[in-house]
Amino acid sequence: MKKMLIMGPPGAGKGTQAEYIVKYYNIPHISTGDMFRAAIANKTEVGLLAKKYIDAGNLVPDEVTVGIVKERLANPDCKNGFLLDGFPRDLKQAEMFAVMLKELGIDLDLVINIHVDNEKLINRIIGRRICPECGRTFHIKYNKPLKDGICDDCGSSLIQRKDDNVETVSNRLDVYQSKTEPLINYYKDLVVTFDGDRDVDVIFNDIKKVIGDK
Ligand code: ADP
Ligand code: ADP
Ligand code: ZN
Repeated sequence: MKKMLIMGPPGAGKGTQAEYIVKYYNIPHISTGDMFRAAIANKTEVGLLAKKYIDAGNLVPDEVTVGIVKERLANPDCKNGFLLDGFPRDLKQAEMFAVMLKELGIDLDLVINIHVDNEKLINRIIGRRICPECGRTFHIKYNKPLKDGICDDCGSSLIQRKDDNVETVSNRLDVYQSKTEPLINYYKDLVVTFDGDRDVDVIFNDIKKVIGDK
């Protein structure tokens, strides 16, 4: 049961849990947000197109998003499992994803849903810092690096995501509530919900129990 999605509002801890899950189970982490940020940093065609949507906290158009996910899932390293993070993000994407899975002969096993109340999400997002080199996520209060502003893993200077500001966050939370949250019901047969307002390792332990052996 290792063909999985991870869902939840912005700041719920999807990326943080995903880092632990993919390391433990040795499966690829497919994050559409990470892929877009890499594309923007590299100034690719996808990056140039996605940038204005991301900066405003809106969804990038499906033509772009669905294409990059399909290409990634077709890669042989996804054969024994994968963790998709940040996709699908609305009903339309979920329907296109269902077609894609059928074409690729993939059966989804589990949808991990992380729940955190709205008022807690804002602080998590505003205090988030990421490593531009290795992608690791930190928080200025809740998940501090050993040395302020420096990545524990690779020593690079941490940065704040451009969309992690108060103005954009409220739109992202609205977009989540109106478009993404309905997917919990769409996937109801596969969803397991975890309380994301606990220590990172406590949540990860619960998730491991549901996913099972390596
Ligand atoms: P968060 O971790 O805060 O939930 P992500 O890193 O997943 O945010 O996504 C950042 C931004 O990238 C989103 O606000 C959106 O603009 C864009 N994005 C990511 N995934 C998708 C997707 N599946 N469809 C459309 N836009 C996406
Ligand atoms: P998402 O990918 O869902 O947007 P992240 O994994 O990037 O969320 O986490 C958002 C912020 O909250 C980061 O700064 C992260 O270090 C922090 N964080 C993640 N999980 C927890 C937790 N269980 N308790 C407190 N802070 C957390
Ligand atoms: Zn790093």
